[in-house]
Amino acid sequence: MHCPFCRHSDSRVIDSRTSDDGLSIRRRRQCPECGGRFSTIETASLNVIKRSGVIESFSREKVMSGVRKACQGRPVTEADLAMLAQAVEEAVRQTGVSQIDTNEIGLAILGPLRELDEIAYLRFASVYQAFETLDDFDEAIALLRADHAQRAQREEV
Ligand SMILES: [Zn+2]
Repeated sequence: MHCPFCRHSDSRVIDSRTSDDGLSIRRRRQCPECGGRFSTIETASLNVIKRSGVIESFSREKVMSGVRKACQGRPVTEADLAMLAQAVEEAVRQTGVSQIDTNEIGLAILGPLRELDEIAYLRFASVYQAFETLDDFDEAIALLRADHAQRAQREEV
């Protein structure tokens, strides 16, 4: 990478640090020519293919804003959303793919969102899975209730 100050074509790594979530490495570099210092951040590339066919890089912020709408009026904090977006990114990266479509991101969001808030989950699922009738809601709610019953049973044992 070129030095951003003098465009020298080489730089020396003087420090590198893995981010807390383990998803990126930050390197502190120094230009041997002008002595200027700068940082680079290295992450495995992860692209999202939108429904329109446009490809853009994965963004936690976009995951958060998508989920934020479904969480309106619910007891969900920005910190909760940030943790959810991180969980989604980790789940997607663990699959080892470098490209994913928005649909698969939606799927990756459903699980952690359900853990976070079931009403927000139903709202998100209704938009994302295009619920058309009350029966679709009934079905989703029946699944949630079945899960509750299972959990209660497990706790009794
Ligand atoms: Zn330089």
